[in-house]
Amino acid sequence: MEQKLFGTSGIRKIANVELTPTLAVKIGLAVATLAERQKVAVAHDTRTTSDMLEHAVTAGLLAGGATVQKLGLIPTPALAYLTWKLGADTGVMITASHNPPEYNGIKLFNKDTTSYSGEQQDRIEEIIKNGGFRRQPWDKIRKVSTLNRMSLYVEMVQNAVKLEKKWRVVLDPGCGATSHIAPMLFHKLGCKVTVINAQPDGFFPGRKPLPDAESLQPLSKIVKQLHADIGIAYDGDGDRMVTIDEKGMLTSLDQILAAYAAYLVKKNKGGVVVTHVEASACIESMVNSLGGKVFRTKVGDTNVAAAIKQKKAIFGGEPCGAWIHPQHHYCPDGILSSLLVLKALEEEGKTLSAFVSEAPRYAIIRKAVECPDNVKVSVLKKLEDTLPTCFPDVEEKLTIDGVRLKFKDGWLLVRLSGTEPLIRITVEAENKERTEEIMKKAIRLVNKLVKERA
Ligand code: MG
Repeated sequence: MEQKLFGTSGIRKIANVELTPTLAVKIGLAVATLAERQKVAVAHDTRTTSDMLEHAVTAGLLAGGATVQKLGLIPTPALAYLTWKLGADTGVMITASHNPPEYNGIKLFNKDTTSYSGEQQDRIEEIIKNGGFRRQPWDKIRKVSTLNRMSLYVEMVQNAVKLEKKWRVVLDPGCGATSHIAPMLFHKLGCKVTVINAQPDGFFPGRKPLPDAESLQPLSKIVKQLHADIGIAYDGDGDRMVTIDEKGMLTSLDQILAAYAAYLVKKNKGGVVVTHVEASACIESMVNSLGGKVFRTKVGDTNVAAAIKQKKAIFGGEPCGAWIHPQHHYCPDGILSSLLVLKALEEEGKTLSAFVSEAPRYAIIRKAVECPDNVKVSVLKKLEDTLPTCFPDVEEKLTIDGVRLKFKDGWLLVRLSGTEPLIRITVEAENKERTEEIMKKAIRLVNKLVKERA
């Protein structure tokens, strides 16, 4: 399988090794080649290589005849929102999100705040591969301007959320793109805020850019020590959020997604909620019981956003903490999501732990089997037929992203990794024993098929 430039969430590679300034110039030029006389908004996260790549992308955009507005260091959702608000045609975000510090990436947005679709990304790849660039003559090269328009994003969030209670909040931006803006917004909304890791720093000295159980231990401790209501952490570029409850416990990302979706469905008296095939079935348990509907997509926020738009959904999200609120824009937004969680707690009169525990907690296991890239597709094809025959109690088979089998008491998903030579297997069932039994059977079969084809 040929290594593609774009993955499930834009381009993400090791900076200055795979994602070089030379490649970034080509990406900028390809974006400008697609449409004439474009206005492009460009922003970046805190990574050490972000300035370097921003200059390179900008050079490419200018060479292709675009006008460039540089918005500086801002979170990804702010770039997406400002692309629309400032009337730009395209938004370019230089970020590798939650990847380690040596990575960087490029994510492209349309003027309606959705990220570039698979087809748009394929067209960019095609231009780069074939060298089909359209360079403009010297007298058609336009200007770069530097703008500070964060106030427009702040205004949007302030209009979206009004809080009554003076919440005691501990924030952990992790030295990423939300470092300044998140504490400022929580202050403005009347919260009592304590912040850790709030200095923008591309070495991420406080914790890794991925907010998980291990990296959020200091945050948990401080929430407990200060008797705070909630701890909130963001990933490197601020499109994801993870919460710590008032007891200092990391909240289950599947459960909070389901609980928040249920709260919205109840409030709206129905509605469609979008998530992807790998999320826990606790979202269906919650949403269906309240008269709502869950629509499942392929993994990746681009797919979730497209389905939200198409299905006119009231909400959508992935269990990594990337939530989309279509009333405001179509980019996952960590800061907005965390403030909306506080609003939900306020309206429901609940603590975070009580709110989240309303969603059932099932046993979920995620594993991966190694599989060479060149046989991945044929193994998956074979699995589509073979996998259901191994499980006599299959109720439903979905093939939107890999193979997903639904049983009476759980489900199994086998899908190809978009970035690594791996086949990912996820199993969820009502108890641990059943989950392990399904996982064991699935791994045995996948291993057998990989061996036969490798
Ligand atoms: Mg991110």
